Amino acid sequence: MDGKKKMLIADDAKINRVILRQFFQETYEIIEAADGREAVSRLQGADVKVLLLDLTMPEMDGFEVLSYLQSHDEYAELPVVAMTTRDESDAGARSLEMGARDFITKPFHPLIVRRRVQNVLAEAENQWRQALQLAKDHQIREMHRFIEEDSLTGVYNRETFYRKAAELMQENEGTDYEVIYFNISAFRVINDLFRVETGNLILKTAAYYLRAAAGTTGVCGRMEADHFALCQPVRAIQMDTLMQGLDSTVQSLGISHNVVFCAGVYPVENIYLPVDQMLDRAQLALEHIDASDAKRYCVYDSSMRDRFLKKQMILRDMEFALQEKQFQVYYQPIYDQKTGKIASAEALVRWRHPSEGLITPGDFVPLFEHNGFIVRLDRFVWEQTARFLAQLREELPVPLSLSVNVSRLNFYNENMLDRLENLSKKYGLAPQLLRLEVTEGAYAENVRQVVETSRALRARGFRVLIDDFGREASSLTMLRDFPVDFLKFDCGFLRGGDAEAARGRAVLEGLVPLVERLGTGIVIEGVETREQLAYLASIGCRYIQGYVYAKPMPQEAFRKLLQRDGVEAPAG
Ligand code: C2E
Ligand code: CA
Ligand code: CA
Repeated sequence: MDGKKKMLIADDAKINRVILRQFFQETYEIIEAADGREAVSRLQGADVKVLLLDLTMPEMDGFEVLSYLQSHDEYAELPVVAMTTRDESDAGARSLEMGARDFITKPFHPLIVRRRVQNVLAEAENQWRQALQLAKDHQIREMHRFIEEDSLTGVYNRETFYRKAAELMQENEGTDYEVIYFNISAFRVINDLFRVETGNLILKTAAYYLRAAAGTTGVCGRMEADHFALCQPVRAIQMDTLMQGLDSTVQSLGISHNVVFCAGVYPVENIYLPVDQMLDRAQLALEHIDASDAKRYCVYDSSMRDRFLKKQMILRDMEFALQEKQFQVYYQPIYDQKTGKIASAEALVRWRHPSEGLITPGDFVPLFEHNGFIVRLDRFVWEQTARFLAQLREELPVPLSLSVNVSRLNFYNENMLDRLENLSKKYGLAPQLLRLEVTEGAYAENVRQVVETSRALRARGFRVLIDDFGREASSLTMLRDFPVDFLKFDCGFLRGGDAEAARGRAVLEGLVPLVERLGTGIVIEGVETREQLAYLASIGCRYIQGYVYAKPMPQEAFRKLLQRDGVEAPAG
């Protein structure tokens, strides 16, 4: 053997074999075959690296050879370059379909033939290399399972942390431990802003600090991405100290971005609880930290778990509840304090849960806004309200308007307009009787869409109302650009210390004439006391919703209230 790769040339025309031998004999050890059958037998045990295969041969032609190769595992990967003559129009293409890597057309051009063979071999080799790399990667992954460290930061990986923390706590049964879960807020932003190396540097630095913090009495590990865990004797290091230390260590890197760590702390009650569950609890505590909070860590308590379970229950049961009509619409009247009559009412949803009792929207509306279910729940409430409006039209001497809440998600939904219009048609309602409450938050999130949709709704006769005005960041731009029929102002705005309340009143007193000039009505909600009522009367606020008059109530109770207090004819 002279170390050359073996090439098999299979062609029944001797002249072709001679030419090809000349092309390749310097780089390859050449074997020849005069027909397909001979080619197949020559392959046996010969470790051929490439086959030049004539497609038209006696005995067994090139196609038969190709299908033989494909059906024998040991030859399936053998690179084959097929050879055709000009007039065998689609033979080349057919050979590719049957597994040849390329084909060349006779008569041969030496350069082309050599290049094609080279390419085919390079490709084959590449595939081989890729396969090798895959196998290697797999091996590395397997190895990582056996080694204990996180390869980037050198602290324990998740599995090892679980094991070491459990061992630590069980070996020191008299000591109380806490398990802390760390997270970098908006780490993705850091990865987007800087190079990967910067992100990695932060992680390594945090790991370095936490390992030092763990010392010999604790253990730390990296769970994944930017999440770390520490198990230490309770308050071995105070949380404030720990967080400050973490901050200043990372700040010392001089990265031009504020890296903020947050942590959840689980004081271990039962050391035999699996460590991953301890971490789940620490993580639950972590999720209680608000982005707006100055506080950067939170200690677990069992109410968090209850809330978590309740949340799970809500998400699990919502579909069924909607089918089973467990959601119920309550109505809270809006009074005209000048006449003492009911001027309108707001539809507010409740959930009559078979085992949990009455659940108020504060518990589920935010979850449904998060997962999109609110759109369907809103539709249900709108339908109930429309049906009720139709009944009231028969029962009452003057028409009564009702308002429904329109979650911000509806504005991403194309057919909201049609839906409402169909509803008013279905129940034969004047659209003026349906008021749509849109929060200023919805407006701020999606200005163009909210303004456009509201304009279209108003054009079709519906009334639009800004809800929770003044709760978040109201802007004058909104008043200018978002024409609505009513504005709802939360009386909570007037709470607070003396100075704050006085400023609140000044704002409201200025707002009332301003809103009037815009031709917008104003409803004050959340009014609880007689004093508030008197004050509001003194500054000309007529329309009041709040506990001072009535809480939200079921439909039947609301009917009775309408009988008792009377309904005011709509102004226009
Ligand atoms: P909201 O639209 O601002 O509704 C007014 C909330 O204030 C109601 O809470 C009502 O019961 C409460 N409230 C009324 N008067 C007073 C008072 O004098 N003092 C105090 N402290 N509170 C008062 P509720 O029914 O718990 O609803 C909470 C929120 O849930 C609503 O706030 C609304 O944003 C949302 N929501 C309720 N029903 C629906 C609905 O069908 N669809 C959507 N998307 N959201 C709804
Ligand atoms: Ca509302
Ligand atoms: Ca409101």
